[in-house]
Amino acid sequence: MREKVKRFLSSLFYHNRVPSSIIFYGKEGIGKKELGFELAMALLCLENKYPPCGSCDSCRHMEDFKQKKTEELKFYGEDKRGKKVYLYLRGDHPDFIYLAPEKAEIKIDQIRGVKDFAYLTPALSKRKVIFIEPAEAMNPYAQNALLKVLEEPPEDTHFILITSQLQKMLPTVKSRSFLIEVPPLTQEELKALTGIEDPLILELAEGSINMAKKLREDRELLNMAKHILEGDVLTLYKKALEVEKWEQERQYLLLRLIQTLLHKRYMESRSYEDKKALDIVSSGLEYLSKGIRLSLLLFQIRGGNKNVLHKGTLSGYKQGASG
Ligand SMILES: [Zn+2]
Repeated sequence: MREKVKRFLSSLFYHNRVPSSIIFYGKEGIGKKELGFELAMALLCLENKYPPCGSCDSCRHMEDFKQKKTEELKFYGEDKRGKKVYLYLRGDHPDFIYLAPEKAEIKIDQIRGVKDFAYLTPALSKRKVIFIEPAEAMNPYAQNALLKVLEEPPEDTHFILITSQLQKMLPTVKSRSFLIEVPPLTQEELKALTGIEDPLILELAEGSINMAKKLREDRELLNMAKHILEGDVLTLYKKALEVEKWEQERQYLLLRLIQTLLHKRYMESRSYEDKKALDIVSSGLEYLSKGIRLSLLLFQIRGGNKNVLHKGTLSGYKQGASG
């Protein structure tokens, strides 16, 4: 399936038909960024090859970019009042910038920086590439500002956007872009790419390389997910507080895993409770970065905190009220 996307990109490339704005979309962790980056590298490659030659000056700068840490790549500009503002990531390649959020959002000031870059003449390669990932991190103001650039695309400049939440992109931005859906990896592809043989891991990873690798390295994740769904209710409180101390990325993976397990269960049970629990997990995934009480949310998955936390108090209250 992955090969099909690559063949398509190759044909666009060699017919000189690569659109000026492409959105790669699909599930998290399935290699969208890698596909997009490879295309960016090819567009800049001095040998004009897809896949890129890997050894010209341009390709070397791009490889170097990939190896560097985010901190080393951060590029700052000045706003109207002369205040230093974070704009994007930039390595030694003069014709490539990588727009990424500094915290949770890509802001409108950053798009102004992109505009300045977009209208320059390429310095090393024949084209320029602006890479935006994750594209859904652009707030609506930023997306509208980007739209203005997309409406009058600067010559020889390509925009490559990567998103796992296409629904968060403005319809106007989508309509100005060429959409490429990246399918999840099959279990066979996953196995070949990661060397993982465990069928349970391959199944639960749902086509995501990230998830497969994390599940292999971090056995606690699966145990915790199972405990939250099926474990003893009395120890749930302690477990949920433990999760609260985890790093956000690990919390996110845990929620994804719970979602997969719940979904499997729901397909068999079709029960209202499982459906409700699934909704809770989805909202958790959406709001995790915005600061939610994860421990409470984990309770709600098991039927609401009142059943777990306040059982004693509630029944006590009822008795008091009736008596
Ligand atoms: Zn090259």
